[in-house]
Amino acid sequence: FDQRDGVIWFDGAFVPWADAKVHVLTHALHYASAVFEGERAYGGRIFKLDEHSRRLVESGKLLGFDIPYSVAEINRACEETLARQGFQDAYVRPIAWRGSEMMGVSAQNNRIHLAIAIWQWPSYFDPAQRLKGIRVDLAEWRRPDPKTAPSRAKATGLYMICTLSKHAAERKGYADALMLDWRGQVAECTGANVFFVKDGALHTPTPDCFLDGITRRTVIDLARRRGVEVIERAIQPEELGSFEQCFICGTAAEVTPVSEIADWRFTVGDLTKTLMEDYHAEVQPKASVAAA
Ligand code: PMP
Repeated sequence: FDQRDGVIWFDGAFVPWADAKVHVLTHALHYASAVFEGERAYGGRIFKLDEHSRRLVESGKLLGFDIPYSVAEINRACEETLARQGFQDAYVRPIAWRGSEMMGVSAQNNRIHLAIAIWQWPSYFDPAQRLKGIRVDLAEWRRPDPKTAPSRAKATGLYMICTLSKHAAERKGYADALMLDWRGQVAECTGANVFFVKDGALHTPTPDCFLDGITRRTVIDLARRRGVEVIERAIQPEELGSFEQCFICGTAAEVTPVSEIADWRFTVGDLTKTLMEDYHAEVQPKASVAAA
């Protein structure tokens, strides 16, 4: 992956892909002092770019640092990198981190770096499996209490338990894992939020200890626009058997139906399919409306 062609935006300059390197004594590598974003470009336009850049800056603040670029500058850097890479549809990965000036838990004066890499990442899950619904395991790791970790930040350290959970699921033949939170309530998957359908309504956990995904909020808007009731609430794992449909959503995963979670079974129903289509339509760049 580190030997591809193209360029990476690195601290304000474009560097050849293979040369975008950091020192092994980078604070972020030792102490997880890094925050990142995952964005998708469709038809040459990055969907909800401004929201992603704002969340990146906010995540940095939650880790106690200021990214040395404004939201507008980050937006422009993402757009310029997309143009340089020449892709219409692509995945965009900005990352900000504490550098290597000081080594130790304290890193008050370390420089904050920012890099933006863009590559083509068509489908997060196997496309054939996606339409049938993916199989999801129940993770053993739980999302931490917001008093234990800065759970609203999209911070690298919070993904340690995600990789552990995803690997454990993959070893058992599953595509992903559903994580509970520290109270034992349903939380989210390892890189996506989760929704359930019952009696025509959408149910989704209240995001009080995990990422309130930009895709999640988009799906809620799309459902409400169709007059579908959306209920954000605490969901207990014992309730999973009472739901008819399930899907997960995130920038990389988009809207992906789920056919099983451990021993629970779901159908890929009409509402899930409709929201997949609505999301697909929503992310396409809108042709600018000519003056009537
Ligand atoms: N939860 C986790 C743990 C994630 O990594 C992601 C992907 N960023 C999401 C939820 C969904 O967030 P978004 O819709 O903003 O991509």
